[in-house]
Amino acid sequence: MNTGVRSIPLGRVCGIPVGAHWSTLVAVIVIGQVVAVSVLPREAPGQSSAVYWTAGVLAALAFMASLLCHELAHALTANRLGVGVRRIDLWLLGGVSQLSSSPATPRIEFLISVAGPGTSALIGALAFGTGTALAAWGAPAVVVSPVVWLAVANGVLAVFNLVPAAPLDGGRVLAAAVWWRTGDERRGAKAAAFAGRAFGTLLVAFGLMQVFAGLLTGLWLVLMGVYLTVSSSAEQSAGETRHRLGTLLVRDVMVPDPQIAPGWWTVQAFLHDLASGPHSRVFPVVAFDGAAVGVVSLAELVGVREPLNTRIADACRALPDVPTAAPDEPLLDVLGRTPLGQRRGVVLVVRDGHVEGLVGPQDVAWALELARAVPLGRHEVTS
Ligand SMILES: [Zn+2]
Repeated sequence: MNTGVRSIPLGRVCGIPVGAHWSTLVAVIVIGQVVAVSVLPREAPGQSSAVYWTAGVLAALAFMASLLCHELAHALTANRLGVGVRRIDLWLLGGVSQLSSSPATPRIEFLISVAGPGTSALIGALAFGTGTALAAWGAPAVVVSPVVWLAVANGVLAVFNLVPAAPLDGGRVLAAAVWWRTGDERRGAKAAAFAGRAFGTLLVAFGLMQVFAGLLTGLWLVLMGVYLTVSSSAEQSAGETRHRLGTLLVRDVMVPDPQIAPGWWTVQAFLHDLASGPHSRVFPVVAFDGAAVGVVSLAELVGVREPLNTRIADACRALPDVPTAAPDEPLLDVLGRTPLGQRRGVVLVVRDGHVEGLVGPQDVAWALELARAVPLGRHEVTS
């Protein structure tokens, strides 16, 4: 899941921020309901529904915790192999670890990918052992059965994630294998994305068949299938973007020396001045000594209520709330940590506190379009 979506912070585990999107709650309720209404009355008959629901919700929470362990395994392996991890989020259809860079070799990609399903399989085996031991000690079925359910659920999680289709872990394993065989990272990504679309479509078809047969659980498969289809394509185009923008630096795409808004001017004076200038819509704001102050857009200036009495410095979005970048920073790094990656906002390019340029989503789009035809950037390593 890409993270235009806001998630509620849950804290940090081993230094990695962990969050949960509100839809995680839906997952807990749906899973809890399946355990409380379908599994337990069959496996452990004769209990009140309060008991079933308590056990069901506890089982669902334990499942979410094991999902978090799955993601942490990816994240900690990545960290150990020198790939940064930005954050982990749980949501309706599972968990997502966001890496801050892409793995440099197929071996690293492979190891990060298998760590998750491996951990799920391990948790499944541990839960199965615990369930068996509890049963042997004569624990009541209403205790044993959720533990066994947790074991099976983790086993299914491990197997499902190993299906060789992007964006599942198995898709990354497939990508790593093709990359390793051919030496071509993009071919690996292409194969995994193709498999992702095929598998997603298959899940949608299968889910719809279930829905038409009156089984509402098919909706889950449809949802999962749509998610896989959409995000495998998105992942592939993100990979293409990475490839095309490869070695570009911020200064290759920025608008250099943009029209400046003097922070000490009134909004009114500046708007008057604009009428006869170039047609800029976003302006870096600077202080009298030339230091960068922030950014203001034409719409924001026009929306000011008392333009005669308001200084631009008081009407602008001020640093540090505006994302900044250095001119020599790789563009991909900036896309990774600013809203530019989500095709929003502007980034102020600053060197030693002074404005050197401005990058907006349209500048990145420009670079992407031009890079189809000509190699961009002057920074290829030529050794
Ligand atoms: Zn995984």
